Formats: sequence, structure tokens, C-alpha cells
Amino acid sequence: MNITCDHCKQTFTASGEQASFILDSQKKGMRFIMLECSSCYNGFPLNPQTMDPPDPQKATDEDHLRCPISSCYGLISYVEDEKPFWGCGECGTVWFTQTDLFEAIGNSIEKHPYRAKVYTKKGNTFLPVPLANEPENYEETVAQE
Ligand SMILES: [Zn+2]
Ligand SMILES: [Zn+2]
Repeated sequence: MNITCDHCKQTFTASGEQASFILDSQKKGMRFIMLECSSCYNGFPLNPQTMDPPDPQKATDEDHLRCPISSCYGLISYVEDEKPFWGCGECGTVWFTQTDLFEAIGNSIEKHPYRAKVYTKKGNTFLPVPLANEPENYEETVAQE
């Protein structure tokens, strides 16, 4: 299975793990996943239904917010599709409005207060803190939820 990296535009062969991730997400009807490029090692988004990047992409302030879903530490990206959405490339959860996304983040902080450390709250909105400012064991802690 060949995939093209959206960053460096190199085409590479999906690893066994990536191929099964893609097949699984196709079965689940997911329209957005994140993969790691084996040439440039950047993460890049892919629509598993079309095997193309879910473009056109627009960078927003919400990009790279940590996913609020229990035991998921994926990063959220804004995807401008027929119906634009915010999606987590790890668990495939999508939010069609910013209100829904921020509500999910608010709920996850209520349930797991340490999660507040990866967001900056500005009025009613959440912004991501730089990765360097996240608690060191954030991903391990989330994985154990
Ligand atoms: Zn690449
Ligand atoms: Zn997630």
C-alpha cells in the first residue's frame, strides 16, 4: 500500500501497522487519520476513504489541541471538508462545531483535572499549550485513564 506524505510529498510504502490502521479506519467509516511519514518523520493527515489528504486544509488556533476523549492523547486538526470539522487523528472522533469541541474539552477536564495543563483557556475558548509546556508524562497518564 503506497501513501504520499502531505509534508514532503514523498510516496512510501505503509508499514504493516499503518496498513492495518488504514484498513480499520476504512471499515469504521473514518474520514481522517494521522500517519507518520517514513521519509520526513512528520505526522500528516489522510482521508482513508480516498487515500488523499483531506484538503484544502486551513490552519486554525485549535490545531494541535489534545483530544479530550478518555485515554486518547491524539492531536486535533481542523479539516475543511464538504462539512468542515475538527477531528482527532488517533481515535477518529470528529466535532462539527467549535462549541461541541470546547464542551468535550471542558467535560474531560472536569473528569480528569490534570488535563487542564495542556490547554490555555481564553474566555470560552481553549488553545493548546506548546508541547514543551505539557506535563512530561502526559501521554502515559492519559493512556491509563
Ligand atoms: Zn514526509
Ligand atoms: Zn482522540
